[in-house]
Amino acid sequence: MYDSCPVCLGRLRRQVKTPCKHTFCKNCLCNVYKLSPAKTCPLCRAPLEYYISKRNSTIKLVFFS
Ligand SMILES: [Zn+2]
Ligand SMILES: [Zn+2]
Repeated sequence: MYDSCPVCLGRLRRQVKTPCKHTFCKNCLCNVYKLSPAKTCPLCRAPLEYYISKRNSTIKLVFFS
């Protein structure tokens, strides 16, 4: 199965998987988090706070294996 990022529609780069089983590029997920006031998964709208945490002014993704 070809894995593509639902945000940029390209090939996944530095793939991160969310608890809701969706995969995104790390950069795309960071951008969604910064731009979206709802802070939800772009696909299923599950809350993102569980795996993205802010530290200082940078956004850090908490990886789930
Ligand atoms: Zn992407
Ligand atoms: Zn999702």
